[in-house]
Amino acid sequence: MSLKGKVAVVTGGARGIGKAIAMELASRGADIAILDMASSDTPKEISSKYGVRTIEVMCNVADEASAEKSIDEVIEKLGSVDILINNAGITRDNLMLRMKHEEWDAVISINLTGVYNMCKAVVRPMMKAKSGKIVNIASVVGQMGNAGQANYSAAKAGVIGLTKTIAREFAKKNIQANAVAPGFIDTDMTKKLSQEVVNYFVSNIPTGTFGTPEDVAKAVAFLSSADANYITGQVINVDGGLVMS
Ligand code: NAP
Repeated sequence: MSLKGKVAVVTGGARGIGKAIAMELASRGADIAILDMASSDTPKEISSKYGVRTIEVMCNVADEASAEKSIDEVIEKLGSVDILINNAGITRDNLMLRMKHEEWDAVISINLTGVYNMCKAVVRPMMKAKSGKIVNIASVVGQMGNAGQANYSAAKAGVIGLTKTIAREFAKKNIQANAVAPGFIDTDMTKKLSQEVVNYFVSNIPTGTFGTPEDVAKAVAFLSSADANYITGQVINVDGGLVMS
């Protein structure tokens, strides 16, 4: 599963699951572009640990122009975009009756439109290169729903539909698009959950545990590699067995 000579873009790669993905891809030899809203030490940490080239690009994935400009910058500085990991995401939880339109719009524009913007920005250079890998980070709640997350569940279900469509539209161009659906992973995002909610979910996860960002990163690395060349349009759950289809 060597990724030597590949350039991987990780959105929201400064921390959490995105950082673990960037680390995992770098450990297999990929050069890394971290696209995030704020500057971090992550790129330096990666290059000093794995000796790969890293850059940091300030990007708001929800903004089409920012997404396009960021990909141009990656190509200019690192030479290509071989792998795109759409990981950036937010939550604005509320029960639907109380949900404000701003909460709906914020989540849809980052978690769904952001994925669309980034995919659109990379497919032309990938077609020119005659190969590419796209891995979109969805969520189990896009498959099973979740009270208090109408905006987030709708966005993640949308990501799954978008991934399958991209897989169909670009299969003959040798671009594979897949999604990874994490269950409950120990990050800043899930630290916001109350102990009561944590207990409820853990009791419903067959393994009885939350996952780690590294668990997600390993599945993403596989889908980003040549070992997954005949896999496209799929959703791989990394969820301790929470969702079984
Ligand atoms: P996190 O710790 O909150 O990190 C999210 C990252 O995305 C941060 O670096 C954040 O930047 C960045 N980001 C937010 N909005 C952005 C934007 N508009 N443009 C570019 N970057 C942006 O979240 P996480 O738990 O690692 O989650 C990563 C992904 O996994 C998300 O898509 C999430 O929905 C998904 N997921 C997580 C879980 C879980 O249990 N944690 C489960 C299922 C799916 P700032 O630091 O500037 O805010």
